[in-house]
Amino acid sequence: MSQKLLWPVPYGKITQRMIFANLLKDVVRTQVCIGCGTCAAVCPVNAIQMGYDYPRLFGMCVRCGYCFYTCPVSVDEQFKGFDNMHQEIEKLAFGEVRKEPFGVYRSIYVLKEFDTPEEPAKLILKYLLENHLIDAIATIGFGEPSFGFMLQQPRPRIAGNPIVITNVDEIDEAIPQWLTSAPSGMALRGASEELSASFFQKSNVPKVAYYAPSSHVRAIWRARMSWIANSKVEEIVEYIISIFGRTYYFTEKLRTVLLQKGINISEIDGYEIKDSVVDFISDNKVFSFSLDEIAEAIHPGISKVNDRTGEYSDISIGMVGKNIVMIVRSGRIEPIVNNMINENIIRVEEADMSIIEGLRRLYV
Ligand code: SF4
Ligand code: SF4
Repeated sequence: MSQKLLWPVPYGKITQRMIFANLLKDVVRTQVCIGCGTCAAVCPVNAIQMGYDYPRLFGMCVRCGYCFYTCPVSVDEQFKGFDNMHQEIEKLAFGEVRKEPFGVYRSIYVLKEFDTPEEPAKLILKYLLENHLIDAIATIGFGEPSFGFMLQQPRPRIAGNPIVITNVDEIDEAIPQWLTSAPSGMALRGASEELSASFFQKSNVPKVAYYAPSSHVRAIWRARMSWIANSKVEEIVEYIISIFGRTYYFTEKLRTVLLQKGINISEIDGYEIKDSVVDFISDNKVFSFSLDEIAEAIHPGISKVNDRTGEYSDISIGMVGKNIVMIVRSGRIEPIVNNMINENIIRVEEADMSIIEGLRRLYV
């Protein structure tokens, strides 16, 4: 991304900037925080650690404001973020302005031969890696955490770690939309730290696909537009692929709910949701619950994020009713998707009006 679009409103004197203390007050304590980990990823002095669900300050804040202005859900009076600027961002990102509430798109497809949105997403990521269009995928998944020293404590397997994938054989480790919030932003910082030969000089900037829940995507565009040029996070992002349409849960609340049912969240190896039932797998045993039984652990922040479909992604994939729907948004990714369709790697049908209306309903 060579062009730079800066927020039109000056941030004012350094003492007037919104800083981590404001994130704590406005975002964390109001339970708007979606746990994306971008604040920890962008802090230039590594002063923020991520807990299971929220960030906390554990170092010396130098009041730069970068965490606040990069957070995808923070707003202040001067700075209305995407509500004021979505047209400018869309012109920059896509060359056009949205005509639909779910954002700009070039094509919308229904994907017929998959069981989950993650399956076609992984095929696209694999294609990008195999054709050397990216160097790595930054996401959440199994495996050792990247940039993990910024995690306050080890995360349960079910909550996932920020990971960086450089090898196609590792793609199955990626699960961007977990049952709980997951600090995908930290994977970008990890990718930058692991892959950049030079952090400060802009040489050897790796190309990374950011594979994340839809609610996290705005953080990238906010970072790109910040007045602080920062190659740590935003400049390495070559493509954004997001998954939309899932509910998620507080890790800590889910821990309590499951403990009451005799299950230790740290011992859960995986889960599967079908219709309104969730199966937790632990020690090769399956524990089934209706989603209503764990509803008290639902994270309220997700309903406060205006971006329901990852509107600033190159590709958004998610569920609309029982259909797996792919929104191809950017001209940069469109020829790649067309190649995959022509090569029969993914088989698609054009979405009809019922799908468009289903997407519109996500914004009602
Ligand atoms: S130094 Fe900047 S990014 Fe880090 S916590 Fe303070 S205001 Fe946030
Ligand atoms: S939403 Fe993300 S960037 Fe904002 S406070 Fe929470 S973890 Fe940090």
